[in-house]
Amino acid sequence: MEDTDWDAIILGGGAAGLATALMLGRALRRTLVIDAGSPRNRFASHMHGVLGHDGVPPQDLLARGREEVARYGVEVRPGRAARVDLADDGVVVTLDDGGTPLTARALVLATGMTDVLPDVPGLAERWGSGVLHCPYCHGWEVRGQRLGVLAASPLSPHQAELVRQWSDHVTFFTAGLGDPLDADVAARLRARGVAIEESAVAEVLGDGGAVTGVRLADGRVVELDALFTGAMAQPHDGAVAHLGLDRADTPVGSFLAVDAFGKTSAERIWAAGNVVDPGATVPMSSGAGARVGGMVNMALVADDAARALAEAAA
Ligand SMILES: Cc1cc2nc3c(=O)[nH]c(=O)nc-3n(C[C@H](O)[C@H](O)[C@H](O)COP(=O)(O)OP(=O)(O)OC[C@H]3O[C@@H](n4cnc5c(N)ncnc54)[C@H](O)[C@@H]3O)c2cc1C
Repeated sequence: MEDTDWDAIILGGGAAGLATALMLGRALRRTLVIDAGSPRNRFASHMHGVLGHDGVPPQDLLARGREEVARYGVEVRPGRAARVDLADDGVVVTLDDGGTPLTARALVLATGMTDVLPDVPGLAERWGSGVLHCPYCHGWEVRGQRLGVLAASPLSPHQAELVRQWSDHVTFFTAGLGDPLDADVAARLRARGVAIEESAVAEVLGDGGAVTGVRLADGRVVELDALFTGAMAQPHDGAVAHLGLDRADTPVGSFLAVDAFGKTSAERIWAAGNVVDPGATVPMSSGAGARVGGMVNMALVADDAARALAEAAA
């Protein structure tokens, strides 16, 4: 692929994708970001734990990021990639709008993930306000209050133990685990004063976005001020699914495997952020994106040198 449209195409313009783009733009690489425009934290009004931007609305950070990458010639285009194919020394990206496929020397997948929420009435509409997942992001705001933890994945007992750090009043709703809570784990939680409730949660109760409690399957109501739940994760990696890249199983789902530098098992494809790391917060995702940006540029530098050598020898 001597004459590609772009040096790098980045799929996804969230924290990870824009951080990658900033590195590549500043490295004078012809860089295109294609972004479907639905970042994972769009449900939250404010971000926390993001140094220099604590309390800022998520969309403000991304608007600023788009402005910054534009200074270095990066183009950010609204759109959705449907398919990525491998070609000699590059990739071909097909968008879902049926337009002409785009070519690049490198591809970065920064498409994020979907939180697969427990199917409980009243929960999804309060996601990001009264229903929370990350105590580092939103725990301070509900510290000391009556907090619930709704089991939704094998990591939920860990979440219940973690959330206890933010409040003395924690109830762990365990029915979503499927199996009874392991006796050792139950003992650990009880020793920390966490109440364990085995009856299934039938409904999340609230007022607008706020949570006021849960109604249990047996009819009882437990009053709460916020409910945490650790969802299963669905990475947005469908565009490369047919390539059969190496994957890794985690307790919350299967993800593309990447090395320490964000490279997938395909020579020309890197990935950063929640699409490969469901636990990555905004700063972690932008850090991973920045690293991948540097790695992609390094690979292209090596390419350029190999090409120059071959031309010199011809
Ligand atoms: C409710 C909630 C609140 C949160 N609060 C915080 C917080 O306070 N602090 C914090 O640090 N973290 C928070 N997080 C985590 C934060 O959302 C993630 O760390 C961050 O969004 C990961 O960035 P990313 O770039 O990997 O993915 P995303 O931000 O999700 O961006 C991915 C982008 O790729 C796009 N995309 C997807 N598929 C395609 C495709 N095929 N083609 C083109 N584009 C595509 C998406 O539309 C999206 O715009 C929160 C998460 C949730 C769910």
